[in-house]
Amino acid sequence: MYKVIGGVPIQPVHRASCHCGAVRLEVELPDGVVDPRRCDCSLCRRKGTIVATVPLHRLRVAAGREHLRLYQLNTMTARHWFCGICGIHTHHQRRLDPNEYGLNVACLEGINPFDLGEVPTSDGINHPSDRAPG
Ligand SMILES: [Zn+2]
Repeated sequence: MYKVIGGVPIQPVHRASCHCGAVRLEVELPDGVVDPRRCDCSLCRRKGTIVATVPLHRLRVAAGREHLRLYQLNTMTARHWFCGICGIHTHHQRRLDPNEYGLNVACLEGINPFDLGEVPTSDGINHPSDRAPG
């Protein structure tokens, strides 16, 4: 977990926004930025975002809910939200654990995700939800 990124302290309730500012989030991050990672699934590798784990109840859409657009694919479990004006992906509901969001770290106010340095990459190509049970 990261409590400070590039000299910027993560607030217990940190604000986040899309690029144009229409969509604003409030994210409770009592433990800082948790488990930042990239993902190499077909969608994430196109976006190139670094996401962090946030339980559903710790992320609120403070403004611009009407601008959020939903993109779903494949098993239709994950819910990928992005701003309909500027196109920036802000967060998604994870299909591995639908009780969690993946938050785009770059949307956190004042945070430059490049200050994280190297982050691990999740094996999204071989996502467990894509495998046949058993
Ligand atoms: Zn926007």
